[in-house]
Amino acid sequence: MYPNPHKKRAYNTCQGTVMRMRITVAIVLASIAVVATAVTGQRAAKTNTSAKTSDVVFNGLEIVKTEEEWRTLLPPEAFYVLRQKGTERAFAGKLTENKRPGVYICGACGLHLFSSIHKFDSGTGWPSFYDVIHKKNVREEVDNSLKSETRTEVLCARCGSHLGHVFDDGPEPTGLRYCINSIALKFIPKR
Ligand SMILES: [Zn+2]
Repeated sequence: MYPNPHKKRAYNTCQGTVMRMRITVAIVLASIAVVATAVTGQRAAKTNTSAKTSDVVFNGLEIVKTEEEWRTLLPPEAFYVLRQKGTERAFAGKLTENKRPGVYICGACGLHLFSSIHKFDSGTGWPSFYDVIHKKNVREEVDNSLKSETRTEVLCARCGSHLGHVFDDGPEPTGLRYCINSIALKFIPKR
């Protein structure tokens, strides 16, 4: 038999049709997947926004922003300390000598961190506390940025901002000294 060029062309055409159908099905399936993902994402977002966040005790709902977002939200000197792990000059902070009763909150996200009842005069030039309001509200990390010593960095548990360091040379009853940058905190006087 001689090959039938028309049949061959027909086969090619038919194969093309099958491929086009496959591509169409693939696009439809991909579209469904995208829509399903978007719906799931919306549900997740709704769950996050509807869940109650607490400024008093960290409940696991972290505040996540890009560094560029933080840069637009914070004054430059606060951004330097909170987001770039900087240290303010000793005795330069406004809250170092503050003795009023009240609560010290995270300068970036507002989570309650320290209380005036735990504040003491360490003479270091930075606000010093011998305890935190709630252990859940701060996170600790090993800091090897100084060659001379290994320090323990203290961060806000909710937004991950740098606050300062904690040392074990504080007063009783804890023996701890939370050495915190004044600019990393905001003070809410007791009413
Ligand atoms: Zn925070």
